[in-house]
Amino acid sequence: MRSPALLLISAAALLALSADATVPSSVINIPGASIDLEIRGSVDQENTAKLKRWVSESAGQVLLAYGRFPVPEPRVVVVPSEGGRWGGDSAVPFGRVTRGGGETVELYVDVGRPLADLSADWTATHEFSHLLLPRISWQQKWISEGFASYYQNVLMARAGNYTTNQAIEKLTQGFGRGRGSRPELSLNDAAREGVRRARYKIYWSGAAIALLADVELRERSSGTESLDTVLDRFQRCCLPSRRSWSGTELFTKFDSLIEDPVFMPLYRQYANTAGFPDFEDALRSDVVRDEIFAVRTSTH
Ligand SMILES: [Zn+2]
Repeated sequence: MRSPALLLISAAALLALSADATVPSSVINIPGASIDLEIRGSVDQENTAKLKRWVSESAGQVLLAYGRFPVPEPRVVVVPSEGGRWGGDSAVPFGRVTRGGGETVELYVDVGRPLADLSADWTATHEFSHLLLPRISWQQKWISEGFASYYQNVLMARAGNYTTNQAIEKLTQGFGRGRGSRPELSLNDAAREGVRRARYKIYWSGAAIALLADVELRERSSGTESLDTVLDRFQRCCLPSRRSWSGTELFTKFDSLIEDPVFMPLYRQYANTAGFPDFEDALRSDVVRDEIFAVRTSTH
């Protein structure tokens, strides 16, 4: 979920969701998926074409993980919404994934903003990145939010929307905020406290775990293994999934897909330990600049 400065979803926005769509839904085909796109409210032809292109490009960024979209028939609902209403200036002030009866990505969009503004906003990339994992227990929300926060930056860099330096800076800032947030809590404690009380701890501690796993996998295998390859294998065995996974169940499954475990050792080291994961050495690793954030010109 992307949470804007103003956390409550306005009644008007919820009403917009239940209103009849004035634009018929359309299908966007990308490798691995047929996306059912619905645009709510009154949106003219020009803006409809822009939104279709943006959704196609944003969803397409997920292909830069392992070459195909993780679930075959996602729904995307675009809800027109002015950024100012949410207490900020974001072109995409709010987004979330719901999974009842299949995956739906809701994106609240200031539809009058130019395509460049929409493309520069990370919200859609974050929400689509959630689909790389199944639904995770709320008790390990740091995994679902953390991996989406990590991939939102990785994919924006690979797509060329961030330079490598910008992506590294964004992770550095995020980890700094996360380390300063509720240091007395462990990752699982923070998830139990909830997003309102431990937001940065939840989002960025999980992103640090994703980085630590990714760097370790790449360094020990000279680049043949990575978080991308683990998620690729996981998709083949286990997605789409219609149930919730616990953190230990997911990480145990990930470890079964590689030679020597990486994920459960990280879980045992950090999930129930106060403080923040030690990310500094991993972030300085050559593989961050040379592999993880490197621009991809093809989906493989
Ligand atoms: Zn999220």
